Amino acid sequence: MASPTPRFQEGVERTRMERIGAHSHIRGLGLDENLNAAPSAQGLVGQLEARKAAGVIVRIIEQGKIAGRAVLIAGQPGTGKTAIAMGMAQALGSETPFTKMAASEIFSLEMSKTEALTQALRKSIGVRIKEETELIEGEVVEIQIDMPLTRSSAAGMAKSGKLTLKTTEMETVYDLGTKMIDSLQKEKVTNGDVITIDKATGKISKLGRSFARSRDYDAMGSTTRFVQCPDGELQRRKEVVHVVSLHEIDVINSRQQGFLALFAGDTGEIKAEVREQIDVKVAEWREEGKAEIVPGVLFIDEVHMLDIECFSFINRALESELAPVLVVASNRGITRIRGTTYKSPHGLPLDLLDRLLIITTKPYNEKDIRQILQLRCEEEDVEITENGLNLLTRIGLETSLRYAMYLITSSALVCSKRKGTEVDVEDIKRTYTLFSDVKRSTQALSDFQDEYMF
Ligand code: ATP
Repeated sequence: MASPTPRFQEGVERTRMERIGAHSHIRGLGLDENLNAAPSAQGLVGQLEARKAAGVIVRIIEQGKIAGRAVLIAGQPGTGKTAIAMGMAQALGSETPFTKMAASEIFSLEMSKTEALTQALRKSIGVRIKEETELIEGEVVEIQIDMPLTRSSAAGMAKSGKLTLKTTEMETVYDLGTKMIDSLQKEKVTNGDVITIDKATGKISKLGRSFARSRDYDAMGSTTRFVQCPDGELQRRKEVVHVVSLHEIDVINSRQQGFLALFAGDTGEIKAEVREQIDVKVAEWREEGKAEIVPGVLFIDEVHMLDIECFSFINRALESELAPVLVVASNRGITRIRGTTYKSPHGLPLDLLDRLLIITTKPYNEKDIRQILQLRCEEEDVEITENGLNLLTRIGLETSLRYAMYLITSSALVCSKRKGTEVDVEDIKRTYTLFSDVKRSTQALSDFQDEYMF
């Protein structure tokens, strides 16, 4: 029998579904220029010292000179270790590669552990490749005027024979004749307009304020620059800048894989020779000034899940010149190092621990929990009453922050079912009885132990 076609109830508005990630409220580390953390900023609440320490690491990374450092964010579950790492990624911006993985992801049947780690390390190293093209005689030049162009200022400039034009990227001085200035005025060119000057005819035309072309260039990761040449000629240098990761270069150059593998995400193992060749090539580009290395961050969550082989591999990899900054997180105390019978702090071997800078996160107080929950309600577009938020905060304190956060979504559903507009105490109570937290679930297990399978 054919399955019935799903129908939507008439009159029910189908709203767009958006997935909201657990850390989507985080927009940065919330630090001022002296790296001091505000009590709540950019989506991060409390953990002032940990955030400041993370800010110092971000500065080190931004300077781009130090590679191969390793940082451990240690603290109890749910104290914001991942949140701080996400804040670091945001603070670094999109050009700095940031790879996030859980340690358990490296155990797969498709590739060896060391291959998975190598790929993760190389995904976290960016190569900024520069290419330049020069203006051909007579080609149309586009300039964005970034200054008011009144009759008197134009006259002044005409006298000095110079007009400063600012492109989106850099300032340049262009020797404009009086005729050109007249033409600029006739076209009513003002601050912020984009004009084109046909170098062959000297004709000026206005492109308006859409900056369409400049935006196109930005989207392609390139900028258009105007520079003055020694002979006074204006030339356009179009500088195309792409940032790609070493891993992407590996995949593109790996004959078996080809660049399509990048889209499929199925890259398989890459031969050591390919990587060696790429490293040589990149070193050449760097020497010729065609490329720069952008050391990024590899973040490994639940790092205690790695085993002793992985740890010694990482230790060695960090010595390499092309190593990213490694940030790892663990919520374990003294525990066994996987693959050994030894115990150590966070389940990490001492030689790795020795090279780590350690940032610790602390348990939250009531005020912090309340504020984080309020941020999440805003992020999920959930209206909540004062009493509702008080109850949720109490649940967060007595069970866990994560559990309280999950209750936001489900309580909002219960609330909309009763056609309410604000989540209230009753909605939260209802979901609290529907879903157990760890404490209650454990209690149920010990109460009914005999009825479970062994
Ligand atoms: P685990 O050890 O269990 O992996 P964790 O320390 O990495 O936990 P997170 O996953 O960062 O904890 O935090 C749990 C949730 O609380 C996440 O949704 C996170 O975004 C949010 N959160 C935690 N701390 C903060 C904070 N200081 N400010 C804002 N949101 C936070």
